[in-house]
Amino acid sequence: MFGLMQQQSLLISSLIEFADRHHGDGEVVSRRVEGDIHRTTWSGVARRARQVAHALDGLHLGLSDRVGTLAWNGYRHLELYFGVSGSGRVLHTINPRLHPEQIAWIVNHAEDQVLCFDMTFLPLVQAFQAKCPTVRQWVALCDSDKLPTDTGIPNLISYEAWIGGQPTDYNWPQLDENTASSLCYTSGTTGNPKGALYSHRSTILHAYASALPDVMGVSARDAILPVVPMFHVNAWGIPYSAAMTGAKLVFPGPALDGKSVYELIEAEGVTFAAGVPTVWQMLLGHMMPTGLKFSTLKRTVIGGSACPPAMIDAFREDYGVDVLHAWGMTELSPLGTLCTLKNKHLKLPAAEQMRLRLKQGRCIYGIDMKIVDPNGQELPHDGKSAGDLLVKGPWVVASYFKHEGGDPLVDGWFPTGDVATIDADGFMQITDRSKDVVKSGGEWISSIDVENIAMAHPAVAMAACIGVKHPKWDERPIVCVVKKPGADVTREELLSFYEGRTAKWQIPDDVVFMDAIPIGATGKMLKTRLRDQLADYTLPDQR
Ligand code: ADP
Repeated sequence: MFGLMQQQSLLISSLIEFADRHHGDGEVVSRRVEGDIHRTTWSGVARRARQVAHALDGLHLGLSDRVGTLAWNGYRHLELYFGVSGSGRVLHTINPRLHPEQIAWIVNHAEDQVLCFDMTFLPLVQAFQAKCPTVRQWVALCDSDKLPTDTGIPNLISYEAWIGGQPTDYNWPQLDENTASSLCYTSGTTGNPKGALYSHRSTILHAYASALPDVMGVSARDAILPVVPMFHVNAWGIPYSAAMTGAKLVFPGPALDGKSVYELIEAEGVTFAAGVPTVWQMLLGHMMPTGLKFSTLKRTVIGGSACPPAMIDAFREDYGVDVLHAWGMTELSPLGTLCTLKNKHLKLPAAEQMRLRLKQGRCIYGIDMKIVDPNGQELPHDGKSAGDLLVKGPWVVASYFKHEGGDPLVDGWFPTGDVATIDADGFMQITDRSKDVVKSGGEWISSIDVENIAMAHPAVAMAACIGVKHPKWDERPIVCVVKKPGADVTREELLSFYEGRTAKWQIPDDVVFMDAIPIGATGKMLKTRLRDQLADYTLPDQR
């Protein structure tokens, strides 16, 4: 016997229609590429998303045809999120920090037919457009009078001219909820990038889950600043969960420096912000020397790479901002875990609570996870045993776009490539990427642990730990360090700082001071490049 409830597909168009009908005057504020602040509402976004849908119909784009974007976080990008997916096409967000050759490869692989780009990326588009024959229409996200005439790009139109004359009502198609909605390529630090192809259903379920109080806790009382880019894993789904709850959205555009982000948070009364650690480092770097404080910011979700304990401490103790550590990946839409305490932890002493907050957190309903040994045997949830982390759930990839790379699943579970522990309360802690673990004398050393200790030293701005070949121990860890401006620390001082903070054999063998550590397109340390840079390096006891 079936239940007798209405059958309704979970569709992205329903999000923007809901926001329009029930939160129509909810604000959407953007710092534009032009530098000024633009203000619109959820109704304004809905109206123009329908115009986008008409413009795509005008190009005779079929169901599931791909529309690429190379754009910062802003209202036009938001309109494309809903207009493209809502009308049954696939929104393909492209990371502009990639090399032009890589971008051309991705555009060709996705077979994008339309490509919309912010004017910041005009030179980038000029560099690769000739290599992308599938693109029939190039759209510059600007007013028509801002579009130069001599760009050399064929079939180029300004966004405002493209959607301007279109009707503002639209009959969103009643799609199967499993229809593809958006496409995001993994960063591809090794081999070619692979596409994670999300569906309307996976996106809506992820939006419901991420709005839960134990996850991002998004509500109509929030003003959200997604610093995490809309060009990478849909800004952690915030555009969708904001529409679902009618939250105010505040977009930083291209200005991600500490001063601009701080000013936007204060001017727009931001209550909740989300981003990778490097962005918050710039923000704190701006605030600390000048003694600035937040007046409205209550919580921030930090993920994408391990959040240094010193950062959680600074936000909580010095600024009264709750830091929620999150873990996820492109293949998970991206959220897998979020770190919030359970009722029974509230009575724990502050130091014990902090120990938990450093972990990547508990499973969100919808995701299941396990850790296994090299033979695939499941390991206990004792907070000590570390193994390969596998996940499954309705917003985890089953296969990559065009089935690239074959079947990624192992007995229905997706291997994340991360190594983790899970404790008895279900708190997961990433100890490493499997390719970054330092294997010393048959034991594993967590590069994240080594980095966190260095980062706790007041003179250290950034730290990266890598393993270096050793004839006796197989590998030994070294730590590469960038000092804070004006601060100083010697190799010996930093190595003695490790004593008492970790087991003796886990203390790095050497400190290498650098001006900068290479950062990849998604704001993470590029350890592959770091290893290349140190190809000629020898450990002190081997010199
Ligand atoms: P994301 O958008 O989350 O950066 P990617 O697919 O580019 O997605 O990268 C996913 C990888 O980033 C994870 O497999 C993990 O290694 C790392 N990662 C993400 N969040 C965290 C975290 N909180 N702590 C440690 N590593 C993390």
